[in-house]
Amino acid sequence: MLLVWGRAPSPVRRAQLDLFSSSLAAAENRLIQGEIMLVVMKAQATEDQVRAVCQKIEKLGYRAHSMPGATRTAIGITGNKGEVEQGTLEEMPGVQEVIQVSKPYKLVSRDLKEENTVITFPGTAAGIDGPKIGGSGLAIVAGPCAIENRDQAFTVAERVYRAGAQFFRGGAYKPRTSPYSFQGLGEEGLRIMAEIRQQFGMKIITEAIDHESLDLVEEYADMIQIGARNMQNFSLLKRAGRSRKPVLLKRGMAATLEEFLMAAEYIMSEGNYNVALCERGVRTFADHTRNTLDLSVVPAVQRLSHLPILVDPSHGTGKRNKVTPLSRAAVAVGADGLMVEVHHKPDEALSDGPQSLFPDQFDQLMEQVRQIAAVVGRTVPAIGVGVPVAVSK
Ligand code: PEP
Ligand code: MN
Repeated sequence: MLLVWGRAPSPVRRAQLDLFSSSLAAAENRLIQGEIMLVVMKAQATEDQVRAVCQKIEKLGYRAHSMPGATRTAIGITGNKGEVEQGTLEEMPGVQEVIQVSKPYKLVSRDLKEENTVITFPGTAAGIDGPKIGGSGLAIVAGPCAIENRDQAFTVAERVYRAGAQFFRGGAYKPRTSPYSFQGLGEEGLRIMAEIRQQFGMKIITEAIDHESLDLVEEYADMIQIGARNMQNFSLLKRAGRSRKPVLLKRGMAATLEEFLMAAEYIMSEGNYNVALCERGVRTFADHTRNTLDLSVVPAVQRLSHLPILVDPSHGTGKRNKVTPLSRAAVAVGADGLMVEVHHKPDEALSDGPQSLFPDQFDQLMEQVRQIAAVVGRTVPAIGVGVPVAVSK
């Protein structure tokens, strides 16, 4: 802080002072945020050279994030103890250059990794490839809002599987506005979902609402969902970042693009690089829908980040009649997949009935989405289309 006693400064002097104090603030901000550098390795750098650079970074008290790309490996440096001495790393064998990343998010950024991230899931014992999130195929996630009981879950699962969903969703832990609303079946819900995976081969995505539920979700599910209400629960994000399961991060209902990416950065900074984003609508003055589905965030994310992004038109609109049109739009705008709520008896659903599609409507949605996907050069890899299944409920 600079204090000038006496006469008020002239406009020119004031401008100089402003400039000075703003550059001081910028420098301070850099230190607070931990200005991050990126080590770009030469295309021909060996694994040993990459390892040596990582070890050096860790020895200096930072964390090294090695991201192999198609042409070269980049190593992100994170930590919050100030800047790394640039020259220390620049001289190491195999290093092409050390660059400063000016954006607040680093690991999610395309500066670190140019190619799109593709999250892969294990295949079946029968040699069938597992589904992916990212890449040219669209990931379709469908299922009820909440797992209510075995019969409901299996009935919906069979229908979404036959329509072509590769992932089954359903909440076992529900973050409800009212403490008197159905809170989910807890571990029993997770067990039902694990059986559904066993029966149909769909991968399971379900939400963790706190550290305790994350421990269990991590055990049973294939992907951990962090919901809109927890997008800035930084301790939960860090916990998810220490998990070995991929994470589906939903956008907070009042989150800017930068806040959304920073939330993903929290997960990645702990070493979990398998993160997919999900746009699910934000709060606006509009009252014809539950939320306003912000489809423009899809190309905005894709420009800045290598992470895949799905769209959830169910929570994004809150109205059944708007889910299919917005699904078509989401695919047209370039989303990497959809998350859709489906219920065989939406009128009796314990949560989100009004936005849940009937199974027949989901069949139609899938048909339309396949057509739009073809127009934008995408496919919908289906694991269950037309496959008769003997359902043992
Ligand atoms: C959900 O997907 O079940 C959910 C609660 O969504 P959101 O976190 O987007 O509200
Ligand atoms: Mn829901």
